[in-house]
Amino acid sequence: MMWPDSSNDPVFEMISREVERQNNTIQLIASENFASPAVLRASGSVLTNKYSEGYPGRRYYGGNMVIDEVESIAQQRLKELFGADHANVQPHSGANANLAAYLAVLEAGDTVLGMSLDHGGHLTHGSPVNISGRNYNFVAYGVTASDERIDYNQVRDLALEHRPKLIVAGATTYSRTIDPAPFRAIADEVGALYMFDAAHIAGLIAGGAHPSPVPHADIVTFTTHKTLRGPRGGAILCTAELASAIDKAIFPGLQGGPLEHAIAAKAVAFAEAATPEFADYAKKIVQNSADLGKGLAEAGFRLVSGGSDNHLLLLDLRSFDTELTGKQAQEVLDSAGITLNKNTVPDDERSPFVTSGLRIGTPATTTQGMGPAEMGKIADLIGRTLRQHKDEGVAHEVRAEVAKLCGRFRPYELPS
Ligand SMILES: *Cc1c(COP(=O)(O)O)cnc(C)c1O
Repeated sequence: MMWPDSSNDPVFEMISREVERQNNTIQLIASENFASPAVLRASGSVLTNKYSEGYPGRRYYGGNMVIDEVESIAQQRLKELFGADHANVQPHSGANANLAAYLAVLEAGDTVLGMSLDHGGHLTHGSPVNISGRNYNFVAYGVTASDERIDYNQVRDLALEHRPKLIVAGATTYSRTIDPAPFRAIADEVGALYMFDAAHIAGLIAGGAHPSPVPHADIVTFTTHKTLRGPRGGAILCTAELASAIDKAIFPGLQGGPLEHAIAAKAVAFAEAATPEFADYAKKIVQNSADLGKGLAEAGFRLVSGGSDNHLLLLDLRSFDTELTGKQAQEVLDSAGITLNKNTVPDDERSPFVTSGLRIGTPATTTQGMGPAEMGKIADLIGRTLRQHKDEGVAHEVRAEVAKLCGRFRPYELPS
């Protein structure tokens, strides 16, 4: 069999164009990163061919000698990385990891406490359009109106009032450190289980830049492709007590055959995340986010909660320009070669399709090696583009500057 190129199928030409796009525009989507060539290599391997339903040593099909080694090393590395009792590396995604956690410990209709979507929670934390919200009775906590940080008093009050079976911590758009300890105390007070969804911050935790929920939570779920910088996928850590329930929930409860090529790539990423270089990377992500926030504040933007302790910032555009929506801002920045996403701000009066905010993250630019000078430059480019968003010439000028900046920090060399 020959390796394909663009002459075989236009899909390969599309992949080349996507490499080009990733190389020549600035990636500020908080949930994205640049996986290493080693991760890409494992992910694009013949392991995709193998059926391996079950777990190492307990498979339904033959021929899993090598696969068992691959999945075992992934589990072992993950347990060591976070100091957990048990690891399941099979979830196809973060959403599946969360669903499996629910399936393992809840019955349909059970009450769960989770973070409100419009205050930063994820769809899988009880959105009415998600299976989580349809199958379980989610009650939402949020951030305070005054400092826009998680309202632990409200979490406790709601827990005492609703007596949830599970309390879910973790967020998708929250720019501050989440202290894992208070949730444990509240869960214990009401006899609830405690799950921490670390999808966004798993890499910050692995690198020691954020407090680990593993000693506090019964279950920790996360994605492997955000700050953790591995292949697209999910994983679950849990106590020895819940190990069998979690494993059964993933398979046969929720998924069929595991994606062993993705699991091999996860194993590669877990080893990368255990290095001193990765700890340094995690610190730099946080520093870059703080620096970018400072630059954006100087450019006239209001940051929700006043800044960032992690890898992301949430801009409230309303005080910058009352007319400018998140949707328009995302589109004009896209045309300037700056990729980020519109996002609702707490208690946004605009719909989730329009929004009044922008979410901006630093995991990808930090992987590229950008630092304080580049964060200042990016803040300036965003400010300039949005201040003159009606002038297409400005977006065009910025795009040229973006290409020049990216030329000095190429994440990948184009395939020849
Ligand atoms: C991204 C995210 C998920 C879902 O991950 P997918 O891999 O996209 O399914 C779940 N929870 C949180 C908090 C997230 O940010």
